[in-house]
Amino acid sequence: MENPNKEQCSEKVYPHEAWGSLYPHRCPRIAVVQRNDDWYCKVHDPEYIKAKDAKQTAEWEVKGKKQRTEFTAYQQCIKINPNNPLAVAGAIGDMHEILKKARQHFGHIIMTYEESQLVSIIDEVLAKIKGGN
Ligand SMILES: [Zn+2]
Repeated sequence: MENPNKEQCSEKVYPHEAWGSLYPHRCPRIAVVQRNDDWYCKVHDPEYIKAKDAKQTAEWEVKGKKQRTEFTAYQQCIKINPNNPLAVAGAIGDMHEILKKARQHFGHIIMTYEESQLVSIIDEVLAKIKGGN
């Protein structure tokens, strides 16, 4: 897709100076790509803009998920130890390990009713850790 006639970009742009937004003009750049019948410079290429927006949306989603994770983790740690939530955060890995070990232990023995109740709770917590809700 060459631009042999040195077509100008089709996009309308708005100058930055005061009242500029009232007086749009055509982008002065020489176009590099043709989309349907219109020519665009690299910056105003609709495909480029679409890809840029999609990338931005994906980045926001990742950032939002990270913030929600941090907030939820913080809330849970505060709930367990309001005076030292960081200590709880530091022990999460150990808590997970002990739950897995306890579950393994109970998997090999004949259980009392109370023990089977405990195993149900451990299974629920381990399932929660794996995700799904
Ligand atoms: Zn342009």
